[in-house]
Amino acid sequence: MKLVTFSRDGSRALGIVIDDDVVDLTTADGTLTDMIDLIARGDEGLAHVTDLLDRARRHPLDSVHLEAPLAPRKNILAVGRNYLEHIHEVKDQARPVPEHPIVFTKPPTSVIGPGSPIDTGNDPSDTTDYEGELGVVIGPGGKRIAPSDAWDHVFGYTIVNDVTARALQRRHGQWLIGKGPDTFCPMGPWVVTADEFADIGAVWVRTTVNGEERQAAPVSDMIFDIPTLISTLSGVMTLEPGDVIATGTPGGVGMGFDPPVYLTAGDVVEVTIDGIGSLTNPVV
Ligand code: MG
Repeated sequence: MKLVTFSRDGSRALGIVIDDDVVDLTTADGTLTDMIDLIARGDEGLAHVTDLLDRARRHPLDSVHLEAPLAPRKNILAVGRNYLEHIHEVKDQARPVPEHPIVFTKPPTSVIGPGSPIDTGNDPSDTTDYEGELGVVIGPGGKRIAPSDAWDHVFGYTIVNDVTARALQRRHGQWLIGKGPDTFCPMGPWVVTADEFADIGAVWVRTTVNGEERQAAPVSDMIFDIPTLISTLSGVMTLEPGDVIATGTPGGVGMGFDPPVYLTAGDVVEVTIDGIGSLTNPVV
């Protein structure tokens, strides 16, 4: 099931994408307006929206404005240096292959939806870079989740572009400033429920800039897999429904070129993940 948050005629609604239509769940149940509320209902919530399919109005997908699939209530959890090729291209001798996941966060104010512009004006260092990533959306919350139980806590998947101001990331030591500028977390275009993936490790993450392929790797290349990430994070903090974990980026970021190639106004970045779709954002 592809779940979207969209706006139409100025009001926000939840929908299910079927072929080229959006089934407008909010027309059938006016209380359905927030994706995280729906995720928190678990299987009962998904059964409810399935029951609404026949009663809900449909709109052509291209007639609605897609927003980020969910409005985060806290920071996006993000994993750094989780693909070997990316670690090698960064050429930072002081930071070898990590023995434990490196985690930072991106504030909710950085999140934008598909089609919305990445604003390089928020990066005074002019070193804006892309990072295409698989986003894991947490369903049932929990603490001290064992790796063997982790899949039970995955609601679904989305695409995240962990846009980064490279010079700020380096200059400030801690990554929050470099990773946190407004518009630097494109997300979407929807959340695909976990049941649609037989093996998430087999799907590929691909990023293009102006149509040129820059990144391409399978999720199975991750150093720390999804159960390890969920177990590590929940080992110290409560994970809650709707939390998003950006799982790290493959090799091929602009910083890895010699000389580096950063994003500039007029570029278009597209991150594509098998079984989800494409997240496309212009750069201004
Ligand atoms: Mg990243």
